[in-house]
Amino acid sequence: MSRRLANRNGDRELHVYVRREGERQYERIEEQPDLVLLANTVRGVLDRAFLLLEDRNGRNGLEAVANGIVTGRRITNGPCLFPDPTRRIQSIREAILYFLRTMQSNFPDIYLTRTDGEASTVRRGLDEPFQSLLDFNPAAAGELRIQYQYIHNMTQTRNNEEYDRWVFRMALSVAHELTHFFTGYITGDARPITPPNVSVPGWPGGEAGRAWERQTFGGIVEFWSERRDPLQPGEPIIFENLRNNTPGYRVSRTYVERFAGGDVQLPIQPSGGARPITRPQLEAARRIEMNEFYGARGNGRAPAPRTGPSSSQRRAPPTQILRFDDDYGSGGPSSGRHRAPLRQVSVVYHDQGSGGPLSSWKQSSH
Ligand SMILES: [Zn+2]
Repeated sequence: MSRRLANRNGDRELHVYVRREGERQYERIEEQPDLVLLANTVRGVLDRAFLLLEDRNGRNGLEAVANGIVTGRRITNGPCLFPDPTRRIQSIREAILYFLRTMQSNFPDIYLTRTDGEASTVRRGLDEPFQSLLDFNPAAAGELRIQYQYIHNMTQTRNNEEYDRWVFRMALSVAHELTHFFTGYITGDARPITPPNVSVPGWPGGEAGRAWERQTFGGIVEFWSERRDPLQPGEPIIFENLRNNTPGYRVSRTYVERFAGGDVQLPIQPSGGARPITRPQLEAARRIEMNEFYGARGNGRAPAPRTGPSSSQRRAPPTQILRFDDDYGSGGPSSGRHRAPLRQVSVVYHDQGSGGPLSSWKQSSH
């Protein structure tokens, strides 16, 4: 049912590029018929990300982020394009609708590559900074990078339930990234520093994406699995905030299935009767599962390995883990009819690694 991720808004023109192992240059996917499935998968994920942003809860979340940014900028005298200098956009709500429409019609280039976490946003320095909200040009403002391996996994898995969780995970992550474009839009700043008042308890400093997620989803969704396995989407668990001991609840499987099928309802629903669980408890449970696993492998005689299970003990993975060049993703796109050359890369948002010791193995800290 949700295997086909049709784009409900018609064929939005997207420019999707890919750069895989051993390749030196980005290539435009649309020109390679064998890779079109990757682009279609990205389109479906993007469609659900927009459904999140356009939902009433999503727009309210953007409004809260915008108000926080405007207030924070006033305090620090930082640049801000709201209130709009031209006065042609009168309210935050109008500004949000204009943002969503402009993002839809002129979406930034998408790069499937290796990146930190599921997705990241790379901003471009603008030769002429936007002077008004009406100047906003998403394709010129930056680019969206998406983890090639994850999109590849989505095209390979034959497990519907796993596929649905991938859709859920990637749509949440992409929507999060689009809120960073929103921050650039509201401030008109190529290097906007999110004010500390726009954040989530347990996060050090400002983070517009997290603040938007919490407001929109009713919590912070993380994907947990027994081990850090890039082939598995993990189990979605929604936490109240990012404090270590805050309770979390497993997200309803029915909810995830409907979401993947295009029925995006907010807030996100935990499964009925789900018992609260904290991150330390999840970590402890994971250790027990690992110990049992290792014990079974050695039949009580062989010493438990520390480096992870041997591949012969695992279920056959649906895809191979790809390795990347060291300089992978560090260069700009160099092939295809790219709308605007990658100029100065001023900042990369990825958040990964700043969430404390848990992030060393947690699959998603976005
Ligand atoms: Zn972020």
